[in-house]
Amino acid sequence: MIQRIDHLGVAVKDVEESTKFYRDVLGLETGELIEHHGMRMVFIKIGESNFELIEDGNPDSVIAKYIENKGEGIHHVSLIVDDIEAELKAVKEKGVTLIDEKARLGAEGFPVAFLHPKSTNGVLVEFCQKEE
Ligand code: ZN
Repeated sequence: MIQRIDHLGVAVKDVEESTKFYRDVLGLETGELIEHHGMRMVFIKIGESNFELIEDGNPDSVIAKYIENKGEGIHHVSLIVDDIEAELKAVKEKGVTLIDEKARLGAEGFPVAFLHPKSTNGVLVEFCQKEE
């Protein structure tokens, strides 16, 4: 079952610089800097949901390519599911193209998997199985 939005992933050029807006202007609680597979990320808590700021200095990375093509902005929407493998199987059976056929560990240490935007009206959807 899909439970709620966990976070909005935001592609940024400079994660420290971008964090200032959320912390200093909006007054939100910002998390520690996380380094994960060459990406630098900060999670920012907003009620039950979060922003996930993502920077990747590698020009061949998906984040850098996204910024090159579309500029900085919302990159993906992450939905919490109770059983990620069951949800992946269910959407695949309904014709959705998966980027990740199997869940893998995300930056926060929870299993995550992405659905292809061509199956989701252009929205990069992430499933995340997060124990709360
Ligand atoms: Zn994410």
